[in-house]
Amino acid sequence: MEWKPSEKEEEYFARLEFEKRKKQEAEKHAKLAADEKKRLKELHFMRCPKCGMELIEIDYKGIKVDKCSECEGIWLDAGELEAISKFEKSSLDKLFSVFRK
Ligand SMILES: [Zn+2]
Repeated sequence: MEWKPSEKEEEYFARLEFEKRKKQEAEKHAKLAADEKKRLKELHFMRCPKCGMELIEIDYKGIKVDKCSECEGIWLDAGELEAISKFEKSSLDKLFSVFRK
């Protein structure tokens, strides 16, 4: 006798198949997002967020200050503004004198 799946079973397997493919698509999207993030990072790393030119990194008292080679904007990494705000005035003056022309 031939085995014939009941309607309920067919529904169950169709749902399983759908869930499986939905998961595969979600993984594909996550990978696309990760690839795009990687691409953007490669494109923008150590570039000025305003003009796109290269940043020059200067290490001063353990703080890496990035200064744009074109528009002269100064960029700080996370936590660095807070660290700099705790500098004494003389250290702050020295930090800025590094960039002075
Ligand atoms: Zn710039």
